[in-house]
Amino acid sequence: MPPVPDNPDRTKVARAQEKEPGVSNFIRHIIETDLASGKFAARRWAGRPGPASVQRDAPPDPARIRTRFPPEPNGYLHIGHAKSICLNFGLALDYGGACHLRFDDTNPEKEEQEYVDSIIAAVKWLGFDWGPQLYYASDYFDFMYEAAEQLISAGHAYVDEQSADEIRGGRGTLTEPGIDSPWRNRPPEESLARLREMRDGRHADGSMVLRARIDMGSPNINMRDPVLYRVRTATHHRTGDKWCIYPMYTYAHPIEDALENITHSLCTLEFEDQRPFYDWLLEKLADGGLLLKPLPQQIEFARLNLTYVVLSKRKLIQLVDEGHCGGWDDPRMPTLAGARRRGYTAEGFRLFADRIGVSKAESWIEYSVLEDCMRDDLNARAERRIAVLDPIKLIIDNYPEGQQEECYPPNHPQKPELGKRAIPFTRELWIERDDFAETPPKGYFRLFPGNSVRLRYGYVVKCTHCEKDANGNVLAVHCEYLPETKSGTPGAERVKVKGNIHWVSAPHSHAGEVRLYDRLFRVARPGREGDFLQDLNPDSIRLITAQLEPALKDAKPEQRFQFERHGYFCADSRDSRPGDPVFNSTVTLRDSWAAGAKT
Ligand code: ATP
Ligand code: MG
Repeated sequence: MPPVPDNPDRTKVARAQEKEPGVSNFIRHIIETDLASGKFAARRWAGRPGPASVQRDAPPDPARIRTRFPPEPNGYLHIGHAKSICLNFGLALDYGGACHLRFDDTNPEKEEQEYVDSIIAAVKWLGFDWGPQLYYASDYFDFMYEAAEQLISAGHAYVDEQSADEIRGGRGTLTEPGIDSPWRNRPPEESLARLREMRDGRHADGSMVLRARIDMGSPNINMRDPVLYRVRTATHHRTGDKWCIYPMYTYAHPIEDALENITHSLCTLEFEDQRPFYDWLLEKLADGGLLLKPLPQQIEFARLNLTYVVLSKRKLIQLVDEGHCGGWDDPRMPTLAGARRRGYTAEGFRLFADRIGVSKAESWIEYSVLEDCMRDDLNARAERRIAVLDPIKLIIDNYPEGQQEECYPPNHPQKPELGKRAIPFTRELWIERDDFAETPPKGYFRLFPGNSVRLRYGYVVKCTHCEKDANGNVLAVHCEYLPETKSGTPGAERVKVKGNIHWVSAPHSHAGEVRLYDRLFRVARPGREGDFLQDLNPDSIRLITAQLEPALKDAKPEQRFQFERHGYFCADSRDSRPGDPVFNSTVTLRDSWAAGAKT
């Protein structure tokens, strides 16, 4: 689908009509109140401090909202990030605003260009466009440093020469206040001199830090003189060796938001206790003339918790590094790269985000809710094809050897405009092994000696007998066809049968690799009891050789299909070769994990 532009003409009403109903939530309520009160109309864009790039991209109409998606480039994006992306970009779109993509790259050690590239690819793939608004926190390092000096001069920060342990020890607990550092009341000139020495590489890692000077007695531990800058002799993926001091996330993030004129800064609930510091910092910088009001507002929402996966970068990195999967884009991984390779769709993710909504209450979403979204999207769009996953021969003894005719399955039963294709019908076919039973269980309507079924889009056949090896394994099934029953010909439906099975012509089909995926974890909450690695599902992948109809030979990487009676499948983007696609199972037609199917 085409990228969604930052288009102010697309009104909220227009987009709301495209969506499922019931989309209002507490964040929309805040935004609508702010827009109605004209809060941002008072903004003065001209002459704002901050990076030239942000100045240049300031919108002509300052009354619009601005959101941002601020990943740290220290891993690939996961399904939880999709919620945040759809929320931030979706709101900007709905209210005619803009959403920035900003790399929060303040931590030099763990960040890499590979992650930056993968994040850009994933957000684009989800269908969102940030226009010219692509930013890096590291672009603001100069400003952040300048702001730090100003805070010191105004008496709002100091350089603390205690060790990390001493600082931790002095911070107090939830029930006890902290204790002032012996460096807390040193003269600003002294702190300034130390900070400059830190910047110039004259102090070792961990020897001193810059701290805000707020309130060691605050009931909120985050307000007890939090650390703003630390010495870290490390090469940054963008600024190289220019810096050996780096800002803390809690200091950097509010400044990034303010410099980019973000109006509503949406984050997950664990940052709720940081909000007083967020506001304190921006107020102090505005008082000092470095920032202009109105300042951005931080709003927290509940993060996505999804059963049967882990959504923590640390754990995902462990899965990759320790080889528990085939890499970040392994189709079993809950990364967006993995989901894409598996065959999940961007539209399915956006539908998921709409369905789960946003709230302040922590909750768990069943994985099957995501699968249902993918099914609903794929059902509407994926063309149908025929694949026999566990093949056994069916021989039609009264069909002449060497004869061939065409049958015409529709490419999509609800979309006649997608047309039909021809598939060859011959004397020898492949059918699914479990579509035959020598001794049928109760209620079995498929092939067994004496019973008739319809071969989809072809003829009705009556089973006569089967061939077996010495061990009793069935080698082939024999039947006879009824010539007057070909689908689509007059009178074809006169013979009534209960079973309807799929098939491919043995001389025309080709054997292809199919990867059947199951969930990566076998329990709903991996790691709830002990190490999450213990909960890995040992049977999460099964490789099979299927018999595929001729049209599937030409499947392009990432092309998705419904294999009739099975589910949705996607041609693998890495391992498919021209004329020899490899297929990944995306999702079954029905939920095989529902109600006791597996535990
Ligand atoms: P992790 O905890 O896995 O390391 P993170 O939150 O540290 O993830 P970031 O790169 O900082 O990773 O995340 C970018 C944005 O995505 C943040 O605004 C964060 O709040 C949001 N986000 C991350 N995980 C989730 C989630 N499970 N549900 C909703 N939003 C999330
Ligand atoms: Mg984070």
